Amino acid sequence: MTVTSSPLDIAERYLDECVAPQANLIDHDSQALQRAFMGLGDHALLTLRADNQVLFRRFQETISRYSGALAFLQTQHQSAAAMMARSPNKTLKEEYLPDLARGKRRVGVGFSHLRRPGTPPMQAHAVPGGYQLQGFIPWITGWTLFDSFILGAMLPDGTSVFGMMPFETSQDEQGGELRLSPPLEMAALTSTQTVTAEVKQWFLADDQVLFLKPPNWMHHNSQTNVLHHGFFALGCARAGLDILNQAAERKNLPFLKSSWTRLDEELQACRQAFFESEGEGVTSYGDRLKLRAWAIDLAGRCSYGAVAASGGAANSLNHPAQRVYREALVYAVSGQTEDVMEATLNRLTSAEFCP
Ligand SMILES: Cc1cc2nc3c(=O)[nH]c(=O)nc-3n(C[C@H](O)[C@H](O)[C@H](O)COP(=O)(O)OP(=O)(O)OC[C@H]3O[C@@H](n4cnc5c(N)ncnc54)[C@H](O)[C@@H]3O)c2cc1C
Repeated sequence: MTVTSSPLDIAERYLDECVAPQANLIDHDSQALQRAFMGLGDHALLTLRADNQVLFRRFQETISRYSGALAFLQTQHQSAAAMMARSPNKTLKEEYLPDLARGKRRVGVGFSHLRRPGTPPMQAHAVPGGYQLQGFIPWITGWTLFDSFILGAMLPDGTSVFGMMPFETSQDEQGGELRLSPPLEMAALTSTQTVTAEVKQWFLADDQVLFLKPPNWMHHNSQTNVLHHGFFALGCARAGLDILNQAAERKNLPFLKSSWTRLDEELQACRQAFFESEGEGVTSYGDRLKLRAWAIDLAGRCSYGAVAASGGAANSLNHPAQRVYREALVYAVSGQTEDVMEATLNRLTSAEFCP
């Protein structure tokens, strides 16, 4: 009798054997990151989000325990795959979707700017046969790692249009321009090759459009998915505790183990609350917001615990505690909304004054 492993077991085995030993290299070397990403593709793990949301969240938590850069890169591609799967544009779907699970095609996203208040950074105007796009894209992860990306731009009435773009500096047939910046110099996830882009009079043909979303869609979507980015923070907190535990095993200092035990109990409680709140309508938005802030706070404290337990070595760029501490920084801001920012700061400022 053959026993089939679940995608999560397959992922865990792959991450443990192939990613954990080179997590620090993957953090700053984009070729190592590319190989690790393609390894997920070899196990057909790159469209889990499109196939099964609940399973994907567990995967997201697991992968960020092993490598923040890989977790972050693959999530952009998985977002693109989920959008593709929901698109009514059958031709685009048939062209891309079958190749996404194994990474034969690799797609990023650039639409977090739709959350920004005031004048939309990326604007769209309907023209015959499609849309003309103009503006600035503040974040697109995956330059040279992905071959295209899904761009979100806003029409004058607040409707958002999502369409396919090449992931390289290019000109369209009418002289429109897409100009990418060099990779941003970032403190964490340097290997993910995150860039910005200027878009001038770019023609997005109707056949490259995935879908339109009504005004305020991004706002509602961010509220519905407020826990989504929190699963990264849970995995990052676990990564910090793994380092603390290793230090406890190496050093004869009982407080290391007792600190681990205390934080481990808290992380388990936070995880349980996350998984119990997953279904829509189970927990109010306000309570889910507090849970997200709790996970962000835990990632910060567990990674700080890893630093403290590692001593001066934690200041070395090659120390895992250093990497995980920087990754916690990213999870404090990724997918951030005004509400998430406020909940994060409220939690930080709610402690009583005491020595
Ligand atoms: C390393 C890295 C890689 C990333 N890669 C991608 C990617 O590939 N694709 C992608 O789409 N995104 C990406 N992001 C963006 C990310 O998900 C978040 O959206 C981002 O970190 C939030 O930062 P921001 O500066 O863009 O925030 P903003 O969106 O500018 O602000 C956060 C919140 O604060 C509020 N706010 C901001 N300014 C004001 C103001 N002046 N007045 C009132 N309220 C305000 C906004 O309402 C918003 O909800 C990446 C981020 C990082 C750090």
